[in-house]
Amino acid sequence: MIPAAFDYHRASSLEGAAKLLAQHAGDAKLLAGGHSLIPMMKLRLAQPGVVVDIGGLVELSYIKRHRKHIALGALTTHASLAASTELGKSHRALVEAAGAIGDVQVRNCGTIGGSLAHADPAADYPAVVIAFEGEVVVKGATGARTIPAFKFFTGPLSTALAPDEIVTEVRLPTFADSGSAYEKFAQPASGFAVAGVCAVVQLDKAGSCRQVRFAATGVTDRPTRLAAVETALKGAPWNVHTVRAACERADSDIKHVLEDAYASADYRRHLLRVVARRAAERAMPLSQS
Ligand code: FAD
Repeated sequence: MIPAAFDYHRASSLEGAAKLLAQHAGDAKLLAGGHSLIPMMKLRLAQPGVVVDIGGLVELSYIKRHRKHIALGALTTHASLAASTELGKSHRALVEAAGAIGDVQVRNCGTIGGSLAHADPAADYPAVVIAFEGEVVVKGATGARTIPAFKFFTGPLSTALAPDEIVTEVRLPTFADSGSAYEKFAQPASGFAVAGVCAVVQLDKAGSCRQVRFAATGVTDRPTRLAAVETALKGAPWNVHTVRAACERADSDIKHVLEDAYASADYRRHLLRVVARRAAERAMPLSQS
């Protein structure tokens, strides 16, 4: 449980951090909240020669509301997001996901940027940023770019980030007349999602589904949209029967489901259908007929 030797740098600016990453390309790792990197280093699953600590860059910790989206600084902690009543009004699923992460210590230290960059297949935020069709803003030694969330996750613990790039901001659109919810069945020891679903629902005036977005985590090697549920619900009346029937199809177009000592693939498929329905039921009030 002792990490391999490494050089430690405390970054005093974003540009300085990006420069250090570029100088030590492939051998350097950023340290944000440390709640994924440090365990990986202790287990020697990660052995960076250089650790660049960005934890002191307070300018990367913020929640800002813009006209059409919210912007979250990469160093915003899970606890700050979970405590935001303002965010709860427009992006309740995000607040719920943040509040369901690990324990108090993890939530006080861990950051949204660190969680997305780590790309654990069972992490909570990925389902939320995929369902909201968010964007990840990144900066490298040579400039900035914006990556759509659905292109950001490329596999387990893998992302579209280049070795010198730093996540600086996460953007989630604000949808009119919408409701959202996040539900997970948590692994009892770690709190990670065995299956988690974010549902974002927009209804028209007649109470039918104008737009629905569902995304899952914990079930496949990266977060995934639940296309079968979305197709079944689009244009349909938002009621108990249509939602139940649609969520029964939650796993129908997923070919390969993860399995481990805790949950078989069949059990995960069952949990996915259950948490999809629970997320849907809470995202928007359901009519009974
Ligand atoms: P760090 O650990 O500092 O970094 C993680 C990785 O991301 C590293 O590779 C680092 O180099 C990179 N990185 C960090 N910041 C940036 C950045 N801005 N740009 C580019 N790369 C960056 N997560 C859940 O989703 N759900 C849970 O239920 C859950 N339970 C947990 C329980 C325990 C006991 C622990 C220890 C962790 C748990 N986690 C859970 C993980 C937790 O949310 C971590 O905080 C999170 O995954 C990583 O965020 P961090 O800020 O701690 O990143």
